[in-house]
Amino acid sequence: MDKIARLKEILAGSRRAVFFGGAGMSTESGIPDFRSAGGIYSETLHQEFAPEQMASHSFLMAHPEEFFDFYRRRFVYLAAEPNPGHYALAELERRGILAAIVTQNIDGLHQAAGSQTVYELHGSIRRAHCMDCGTHYELDYILHHRPIPHCSCGGIVRPDVVLYEESLDNDTIAGAVAAIRAADTLIIGGTSLIVYPAAGLINYFRGAHLVLINKSETSADRHAELVIREPIGDVLHAALPDE
Ligand SMILES: [Zn+2]
Repeated sequence: MDKIARLKEILAGSRRAVFFGGAGMSTESGIPDFRSAGGIYSETLHQEFAPEQMASHSFLMAHPEEFFDFYRRRFVYLAAEPNPGHYALAELERRGILAAIVTQNIDGLHQAAGSQTVYELHGSIRRAHCMDCGTHYELDYILHHRPIPHCSCGGIVRPDVVLYEESLDNDTIAGAVAAIRAADTLIIGGTSLIVYPAAGLINYFRGAHLVLINKSETSADRHAELVIREPIGDVLHAALPDE
């Protein structure tokens, strides 16, 4: 039996599947990894910064103008749309096969495709809040208030994205752990499983079927029942069980 047919069979028999996704899911929608283009030279600061430095909490606090310029250019891809994989996952949820998505991506494309239960480990570019009074804002506010978006109270409006040096949201982690612990099938896709907390979270899985979909080898391959090295969007779309 070929691998897609086997995945289709596994999904047809699943009722609480969880999809754990990484950057590969978004690159197939045309969103580059923000680290991919290398460092950025700041004219005002006369210094070159690595993307990881610019996407850090201390950089936001020390150089908000440069932070927001970098953020708008490297994190926000308004033209990106869900790919067939996003739509397949939304359909699996509608059919009662998939219980949740746990994602390391911040683009909000799962919700755009119609998924309801999505644990966004690193937050979302779609949301923002005032650092002083907590008022919620939309992405548009950050895009249209330049150079630094300020709240009516005077505080800085920052994205609801987990920056370097910041910890993940406890409720999001708890929800992801509960879903993975209860899952009958865990599909891991588009992630090398190197970035914290991916590797730790999947250790909570106790279900029957572990499936890996990734272009390169990962540390979890040897535990998986099925390892597929094809583009994740195509695989998920092709593996939708017949109705
Ligand atoms: Zn405020």
